[in-house]
Amino acid sequence: MTRSLAVVGAGAAGAGAAYALRDSDVDVTIFEKSRGVCGRAATRRKEGCRYDHGANYIKDAGGRTTDLLHTLGDEGLVDIDEPVWTFDADGTVSEGDDPGDVRKWTWTEGMTQLAKRLLARSDATVDQPTRIASFERGDGWWLTDTDGETYGPFDGLLLTPPAPQTASLLAEAKWNDDRLTTLIEAVGAVPYRTVRTLVLHYPFELDVPYYALVDTSKEHDVGWVSREECKPGHVPDGESLLIAQMGPEWSTEHYDDPLDEAASVAAEKVADLLDDERLADPDWVDDQGWRYALPDDGAVESVVTSAEDAKLYFAGDWVAGEARVRAALWNGIETGERIDDGL
Ligand SMILES: Cc1cc2nc3c(=O)[nH]c(=O)nc-3n(C[C@H](O)[C@H](O)[C@H](O)COP(=O)(O)OP(=O)(O)OC[C@H]3O[C@@H](n4cnc5c(N)ncnc54)[C@H](O)[C@@H]3O)c2cc1C
Repeated sequence: MTRSLAVVGAGAAGAGAAYALRDSDVDVTIFEKSRGVCGRAATRRKEGCRYDHGANYIKDAGGRTTDLLHTLGDEGLVDIDEPVWTFDADGTVSEGDDPGDVRKWTWTEGMTQLAKRLLARSDATVDQPTRIASFERGDGWWLTDTDGETYGPFDGLLLTPPAPQTASLLAEAKWNDDRLTTLIEAVGAVPYRTVRTLVLHYPFELDVPYYALVDTSKEHDVGWVSREECKPGHVPDGESLLIAQMGPEWSTEHYDDPLDEAASVAAEKVADLLDDERLADPDWVDDQGWRYALPDDGAVESVVTSAEDAKLYFAGDWVAGEARVRAALWNGIETGERIDDGL
Protein backbone atom coordinates (compact mmCIF):
# COMPACT_ATOMS: atom_id res chain seq x y z
CA MET A 1 0.00 0.00 0.00
CA THR A 2 1.25 3.51 -0.78
CA ARG A 3 2.18 5.72 2.16
CA SER A 4 1.69 9.48 2.00
CA LEU A 5 3.78 12.39 3.24
CA ALA A 6 3.04 16.10 3.30
CA VAL A 7 6.09 18.37 3.29
CA VAL A 8 5.84 22.07 4.11
CA GLY A 9 8.56 23.97 2.21
CA ALA A 10 10.48 23.26 -1.01
CA GLY A 11 13.87 24.54 0.17
CA ALA A 12 17.04 22.42 0.22
CA ALA A 13 15.70 20.38 3.14
CA GLY A 14 12.23 19.71 1.69
CA ALA A 15 13.61 18.91 -1.76
CA GLY A 16 16.33 16.75 -0.15
CA ALA A 17 13.70 14.71 1.69
CA ALA A 18 11.69 14.22 -1.52
CA TYR A 19 14.88 13.13 -3.30
CA ALA A 20 15.65 10.59 -0.55
CA LEU A 21 12.18 9.10 -1.02
CA ARG A 22 12.42 8.95 -4.85
CA ASP A 23 12.59 5.14 -5.03
CA SER A 24 10.22 4.46 -2.14
CA ASP A 25 6.46 3.87 -2.08
CA VAL A 26 5.96 7.14 -0.19
CA ASP A 27 3.76 9.53 -2.13
CA VAL A 28 5.19 13.02 -1.43
CA THR A 29 3.23 16.29 -1.70
CA ILE A 30 5.19 19.48 -1.03
CA PHE A 31 3.36 22.68 -0.12
CA GLU A 32 5.41 25.79 -0.95
CA LYS A 33 4.27 29.35 -0.30
CA SER A 34 6.46 30.93 -3.02
CA ARG A 35 6.16 30.62 -6.79
CA GLY A 36 9.73 29.31 -6.99
CA VAL A 37 11.59 26.57 -5.18
CA CYS A 38 14.81 26.38 -3.13
CA GLY A 39 13.83 28.87 -0.40
CA ARG A 40 16.74 30.94 0.84
CA ALA A 41 18.96 29.55 -1.92
CA ALA A 42 17.23 31.97 -4.27
CA THR A 43 17.87 33.23 -7.80
CA ARG A 44 16.28 36.19 -9.60
CA ARG A 45 16.46 37.53 -13.18
CA LYS A 46 16.42 41.21 -14.07
CA GLU A 47 17.70 43.42 -16.91
CA GLY A 48 19.51 40.53 -18.62
CA CYS A 49 21.27 39.48 -15.39
CA ARG A 50 20.75 36.44 -13.19
CA TYR A 51 21.78 36.61 -9.55
CA ASP A 52 21.75 34.53 -6.38
CA HIS A 53 20.47 36.98 -3.78
CA GLY A 54 20.22 34.47 -0.90
CA ALA A 55 22.81 31.73 -0.48
CA ASN A 56 25.80 32.51 -2.68
CA TYR A 57 27.12 29.01 -3.26
CA ILE A 58 27.43 25.52 -1.81
CA LYS A 59 30.79 24.91 -0.24
CA ASP A 60 32.36 21.46 -0.21
CA ALA A 61 35.85 20.02 -0.11
CA GLY A 62 35.35 17.18 -2.57
CA GLY A 63 33.06 15.20 -0.27
CA ARG A 64 29.60 13.71 -0.50
CA THR A 65 27.96 17.02 -1.48
CA THR A 66 30.22 17.38 -4.52
CA ASP A 67 29.46 13.77 -5.47
CA LEU A 68 25.72 14.39 -5.16
CA LEU A 69 25.87 17.60 -7.24
CA HIS A 70 27.67 15.70 -10.00
CA THR A 71 25.01 12.97 -9.80
CA LEU A 72 22.36 15.64 -10.33
CA GLY A 73 24.05 16.58 -13.63
CA ASP A 74 27.26 18.32 -14.68
CA GLU A 75 25.63 20.55 -17.26
CA GLY A 76 25.58 24.11 -15.96
CA LEU A 77 27.29 23.16 -12.67
CA VAL A 78 30.03 25.70 -11.96
CA ASP A 79 32.78 26.09 -9.41
CA ILE A 80 33.62 29.74 -8.69
CA ASP A 81 37.39 30.03 -9.25
CA GLU A 82 38.15 33.41 -7.73
CA PRO A 83 38.91 33.51 -3.97
CA VAL A 84 37.01 35.02 -1.04
CA TRP A 85 39.06 37.69 0.73
CA THR A 86 38.32 39.19 4.14
CA PHE A 87 37.91 42.61 5.74
CA ASP A 88 37.78 43.84 9.31
CA ALA A 89 35.70 46.33 11.31
CA ASP A 90 37.71 49.25 9.80
CA GLY A 91 37.20 48.00 6.26
CA THR A 92 40.82 46.88 5.81
CA VAL A 93 40.87 44.19 3.12
CA SER A 94 43.20 41.17 3.40
CA GLU A 95 43.89 38.24 1.16
CA GLY A 96 42.53 35.79 3.74
CA ASP A 97 43.28 32.11 3.57
CA ASP A 98 40.79 30.76 1.08
CA PRO A 99 41.69 27.04 1.00
CA GLY A 100 42.13 26.09 -2.63
CA ASP A 101 40.61 22.62 -2.33
CA VAL A 102 37.22 23.88 -1.14
CA ARG A 103 34.82 24.20 -4.06
CA LYS A 104 32.21 26.94 -4.31
CA TRP A 105 29.39 25.41 -6.35
CA THR A 106 26.53 27.12 -8.12
CA TRP A 107 24.91 26.76 -11.55
CA THR A 108 24.86 28.97 -14.64
CA GLU A 109 21.09 29.11 -14.06
CA GLY A 110 21.53 29.92 -10.38
CA MET A 111 21.25 28.30 -6.97
CA THR A 112 17.60 27.30 -7.41
CA GLN A 113 18.90 24.54 -9.67
CA LEU A 114 19.62 22.55 -6.53
CA ALA A 115 15.95 22.06 -5.58
CA LYS A 116 14.88 21.92 -9.23
CA ARG A 117 17.29 19.06 -9.95
CA LEU A 118 16.46 17.16 -6.75
CA LEU A 119 12.72 17.46 -7.40
CA ALA A 120 13.07 16.51 -11.08
CA ARG A 121 14.51 13.18 -9.93
CA SER A 122 11.68 12.56 -7.48
CA ASP A 123 7.97 11.90 -8.07
CA ALA A 124 6.97 14.57 -5.58
CA THR A 125 4.08 16.89 -6.41
CA VAL A 126 4.77 20.54 -5.59
CA ASP A 127 1.61 22.46 -4.72
CA GLN A 128 2.43 26.19 -5.05
CA PRO A 129 1.94 28.94 -4.22
CA THR A 130 0.24 27.46 -1.16
CA ARG A 131 0.96 28.85 2.27
CA ILE A 132 0.09 26.41 5.05
CA ALA A 133 -1.53 28.15 8.02
CA SER A 134 -2.15 25.24 10.38
CA PHE A 135 -2.33 21.49 10.71
CA GLU A 136 -4.41 19.04 12.62
CA ARG A 137 -4.22 15.44 13.78
CA GLY A 138 -7.28 13.33 12.92
CA ASP A 139 -7.28 10.17 10.83
CA GLY A 140 -3.72 11.15 9.82
CA TRP A 141 -2.35 14.69 9.35
CA TRP A 142 -4.52 17.38 7.78
CA LEU A 143 -3.23 20.76 6.58
CA THR A 144 -5.10 24.01 6.03
CA ASP A 145 -3.79 26.81 3.83
CA THR A 146 -4.29 30.55 4.27
CA ASP A 147 -7.34 30.44 1.94
CA GLY A 148 -8.98 27.89 4.22
CA GLU A 149 -8.53 24.96 1.85
CA THR A 150 -7.72 21.63 3.52
CA TYR A 151 -5.46 18.81 2.37
CA GLY A 152 -5.17 15.27 3.74
CA PRO A 153 -5.14 12.88 5.33
CA PHE A 154 -1.39 12.21 5.13
CA ASP A 155 0.37 9.42 7.02
CA GLY A 156 3.32 11.69 7.80
CA LEU A 157 4.07 15.39 8.03
CA LEU A 158 7.47 17.04 7.55
CA LEU A 159 7.90 20.72 8.48
CA THR A 160 10.91 22.56 6.96
CA PRO A 161 10.25 26.34 7.26
CA PRO A 162 12.75 28.38 9.32
CA ALA A 163 12.33 27.69 13.06
CA PRO A 164 10.23 30.81 13.92
CA GLN A 165 7.77 29.99 11.10
CA THR A 166 7.69 26.32 12.13
CA ALA A 167 7.03 27.41 15.74
CA SER A 168 4.07 29.53 14.50
CA LEU A 169 2.65 26.49 12.66
CA LEU A 170 3.06 24.40 15.81
CA ALA A 171 1.31 27.12 17.85
CA GLU A 172 -1.69 26.95 15.48
CA ALA A 173 -1.75 23.14 15.45
CA LYS A 174 -4.73 21.14 16.64
CA TRP A 175 -2.92 18.19 18.13
CA ASN A 176 -3.88 17.00 21.56
CA ASP A 177 -0.47 15.79 22.68
CA ASP A 178 1.78 16.63 25.63
CA ARG A 179 4.81 17.09 23.35
CA LEU A 180 3.35 20.09 21.55
CA THR A 181 4.17 22.72 24.21
CA THR A 182 7.78 21.52 24.54
CA LEU A 183 8.15 21.53 20.76
CA ILE A 184 6.78 25.08 20.42
CA GLU A 185 9.23 26.32 23.08
CA ALA A 186 12.28 24.47 21.73
CA VAL A 187 11.69 25.40 18.09
CA GLY A 188 10.72 28.98 18.92
CA ALA A 189 13.94 29.45 20.93
CA VAL A 190 16.29 29.03 17.94
CA PRO A 191 18.04 32.41 17.49
CA TYR A 192 18.26 33.99 14.03
CA ARG A 193 20.21 36.75 12.30
CA THR A 194 18.39 39.09 9.91
CA VAL A 195 20.02 40.03 6.59
CA ARG A 196 18.96 42.67 4.09
CA THR A 197 20.48 41.94 0.69
CA LEU A 198 21.11 44.85 -1.67
CA VAL A 199 21.79 44.20 -5.32
CA LEU A 200 23.93 46.88 -7.04
CA HIS A 201 24.39 46.87 -10.81
CA TYR A 202 27.00 48.84 -12.82
CA PRO A 203 27.47 49.25 -16.58
CA PHE A 204 31.23 48.60 -16.33
CA GLU A 205 33.58 45.80 -15.28
CA LEU A 206 35.55 45.68 -12.05
CA ASP A 207 39.20 44.78 -12.03
CA VAL A 208 39.73 43.11 -8.63
CA PRO A 209 41.41 39.77 -7.82
CA TYR A 210 38.63 38.28 -5.67
CA TYR A 211 35.10 36.94 -6.04
CA ALA A 212 33.95 38.18 -2.64
CA LEU A 213 34.89 39.96 0.56
CA VAL A 214 33.63 38.72 3.94
CA ASP A 215 33.60 40.63 7.22
CA THR A 216 35.45 38.40 9.69
CA SER A 217 34.99 40.91 12.55
CA LYS A 218 31.17 40.73 12.35
CA GLU A 219 31.20 44.43 13.25
CA HIS A 220 31.11 46.14 9.87
CA ASP A 221 27.76 47.33 8.47
CA VAL A 222 28.49 45.27 5.35
CA GLY A 223 28.69 41.54 6.07
CA TRP A 224 29.58 40.32 2.59
CA VAL A 225 30.04 41.66 -0.95
CA SER A 226 30.35 39.38 -3.97
CA ARG A 227 30.58 39.70 -7.74
CA GLU A 228 27.94 37.75 -9.63
CA GLU A 229 29.97 38.18 -12.85
CA CYS A 230 32.35 35.51 -11.46
CA LYS A 231 29.54 33.00 -12.06
CA PRO A 232 29.30 32.04 -15.73
CA GLY A 233 25.94 32.90 -17.27
CA HIS A 234 24.94 35.46 -14.62
CA VAL A 235 26.09 38.89 -15.86
CA PRO A 236 26.71 40.05 -19.46
CA ASP A 237 30.29 41.03 -20.39
CA GLY A 238 31.15 44.63 -19.63
CA GLU A 239 28.84 44.81 -16.56
CA SER A 240 29.16 44.18 -12.83
CA LEU A 241 26.57 43.08 -10.33
CA LEU A 242 27.41 43.20 -6.64
CA ILE A 243 25.50 41.34 -3.95
CA ALA A 244 25.85 43.21 -0.65
CA GLN A 245 24.64 41.20 2.34
CA MET A 246 24.34 43.79 5.06
CA GLY A 247 25.36 42.93 8.64
CA PRO A 248 22.61 41.74 11.04
CA GLU A 249 22.54 44.93 13.13
CA TRP A 250 22.33 47.27 10.12
CA SER A 251 19.82 44.94 8.46
CA THR A 252 17.50 44.91 11.46
CA GLU A 253 17.68 48.69 11.86
CA HIS A 254 17.12 49.41 8.15
CA TYR A 255 14.90 46.45 7.26
CA ASP A 256 11.94 48.59 6.17
CA ASP A 257 13.82 51.59 4.72
CA PRO A 258 12.73 52.33 1.13
CA LEU A 259 14.88 50.51 -1.44
CA ASP A 260 16.44 53.67 -2.96
CA GLU A 261 17.45 54.95 0.45
CA ALA A 262 18.90 51.64 1.68
CA ALA A 263 20.67 50.96 -1.64
CA SER A 264 22.22 54.43 -1.70
CA VAL A 265 23.66 53.99 1.82
CA ALA A 266 24.84 50.45 1.03
CA ALA A 267 26.46 51.56 -2.24
CA GLU A 268 28.44 54.27 -0.37
CA LYS A 269 29.69 51.69 2.11
CA VAL A 270 30.60 49.25 -0.67
CA ALA A 271 32.43 52.02 -2.58
CA ASP A 272 34.46 52.78 0.57
CA LEU A 273 35.24 49.14 1.17
CA LEU A 274 36.36 48.45 -2.40
CA ASP A 275 38.02 51.87 -2.59
CA ASP A 276 36.26 52.70 -5.86
CA GLU A 277 34.06 55.81 -5.81
CA ARG A 278 32.23 54.77 -9.00
CA LEU A 279 30.48 52.08 -6.93
CA ALA A 280 28.52 54.70 -4.97
CA ASP A 281 26.35 55.21 -8.04
CA PRO A 282 24.78 51.96 -9.33
CA ASP A 283 22.62 52.27 -12.46
CA TRP A 284 19.96 49.96 -11.04
CA VAL A 285 19.34 48.27 -7.71
CA ASP A 286 17.23 45.53 -6.19
CA ASP A 287 16.82 44.00 -2.75
CA GLN A 288 15.50 41.23 -0.58
CA GLY A 289 14.89 41.16 3.16
CA TRP A 290 15.56 37.89 4.97
CA ARG A 291 13.96 38.26 8.39
CA TYR A 292 15.01 34.72 9.31
CA ALA A 293 18.25 34.52 7.36
CA LEU A 294 20.67 32.48 9.40
CA PRO A 295 20.01 30.35 12.49
CA ASP A 296 22.77 30.89 15.04
CA ASP A 297 22.15 27.60 16.77
CA GLY A 298 20.19 24.38 16.37
CA ALA A 299 17.15 23.14 18.26
CA VAL A 300 17.59 20.44 20.91
CA GLU A 301 17.80 17.23 18.86
CA SER A 302 15.94 15.02 21.34
CA VAL A 303 12.97 17.42 21.26
CA VAL A 304 12.97 17.78 17.48
CA THR A 305 12.87 14.00 16.99
CA SER A 306 10.44 13.40 19.87
CA ALA A 307 7.33 13.38 17.68
CA GLU A 308 8.61 10.95 15.05
CA ASP A 309 6.55 8.08 16.45
CA ALA A 310 3.49 10.26 15.73
CA LYS A 311 4.89 10.65 12.17
CA LEU A 312 5.67 14.34 12.67
CA TYR A 313 9.14 15.29 11.41
CA PHE A 314 11.28 18.44 11.15
CA ALA A 315 14.19 19.27 8.84
CA GLY A 316 16.25 22.26 7.80
CA ASP A 317 19.43 24.16 8.59
CA TRP A 318 18.09 24.96 12.08
CA VAL A 319 17.60 21.25 12.79
CA ALA A 320 21.15 20.55 11.58
CA GLY A 321 22.42 23.49 13.64
CA GLU A 322 24.37 25.04 10.75
CA ALA A 323 23.23 27.89 8.49
CA ARG A 324 24.38 26.26 5.28
CA VAL A 325 22.64 24.90 2.19
CA ARG A 326 24.75 21.76 2.51
CA ALA A 327 23.57 21.21 6.10
CA ALA A 328 19.89 21.73 5.18
CA LEU A 329 20.23 19.41 2.19
CA TRP A 330 21.74 16.50 4.13
CA ASN A 331 19.39 17.04 7.05
CA GLY A 332 16.50 16.76 4.58
CA ILE A 333 17.97 13.65 2.95
CA GLU A 334 18.64 11.93 6.28
CA THR A 335 15.17 12.83 7.57
CA GLY A 336 13.69 11.44 4.34
CA GLU A 337 15.55 8.17 4.93
CA ARG A 338 14.17 7.98 8.49
CA ILE A 339 10.67 8.68 7.16
CA ASP A 340 11.03 5.79 4.72
CA ASP A 341 11.96 3.50 7.63
CA GLY A 342 9.41 4.85 10.11
CA LEU A 343 6.25 5.81 8.23
C1 LIG B 1 21.40 36.17 2.64
C2 LIG B 1 21.78 34.74 2.84
C3 LIG B 1 23.04 34.28 2.43
C4 LIG B 1 23.39 32.94 2.60
N1 LIG B 1 24.59 32.49 2.10
C5 LIG B 1 24.85 31.16 2.13
C6 LIG B 1 25.96 30.65 1.41
O1 LIG B 1 26.69 31.37 0.72
N2 LIG B 1 26.19 29.31 1.47
C7 LIG B 1 25.38 28.46 2.17
O2 LIG B 1 25.62 27.24 2.19
N3 LIG B 1 24.30 28.93 2.84
C8 LIG B 1 24.01 30.25 2.82
N4 LIG B 1 22.87 30.73 3.42
C9 LIG B 1 22.04 29.80 4.22
C10 LIG B 1 21.18 28.91 3.33
O3 LIG B 1 20.46 29.69 2.40
C11 LIG B 1 20.20 28.13 4.21
O4 LIG B 1 20.91 27.48 5.26
C12 LIG B 1 19.43 27.05 3.44
O5 LIG B 1 19.00 27.53 2.18
C13 LIG B 1 18.24 26.61 4.30
O6 LIG B 1 17.44 25.67 3.60
P1 LIG B 1 16.12 25.11 4.30
O7 LIG B 1 15.50 24.15 3.36
O8 LIG B 1 16.45 24.66 5.67
O9 LIG B 1 15.17 26.39 4.51
P2 LIG B 1 14.55 27.40 3.45
O10 LIG B 1 15.47 27.58 2.31
O11 LIG B 1 14.14 28.61 4.22
O12 LIG B 1 13.25 26.62 2.92
C14 LIG B 1 12.02 26.65 3.60
C15 LIG B 1 10.90 26.78 2.58
O13 LIG B 1 9.66 26.76 3.28
C16 LIG B 1 8.78 27.67 2.65
N5 LIG B 1 7.75 28.02 3.64
C17 LIG B 1 7.92 28.69 4.81
N6 LIG B 1 6.74 28.77 5.47
C18 LIG B 1 5.83 28.13 4.70
C19 LIG B 1 4.43 27.87 4.85
N7 LIG B 1 3.75 28.28 5.93
N8 LIG B 1 3.78 27.19 3.86
C20 LIG B 1 4.46 26.75 2.75
N9 LIG B 1 5.78 26.98 2.56
C21 LIG B 1 6.46 27.64 3.53
C22 LIG B 1 9.69 28.82 2.25
O14 LIG B 1 9.11 29.61 1.23
C23 LIG B 1 10.94 28.09 1.80
O15 LIG B 1 10.90 27.80 0.42
C24 LIG B 1 22.48 32.05 3.23
C25 LIG B 1 21.23 32.51 3.64
C26 LIG B 1 20.87 33.83 3.42
C27 LIG B 1 19.49 34.30 3.82
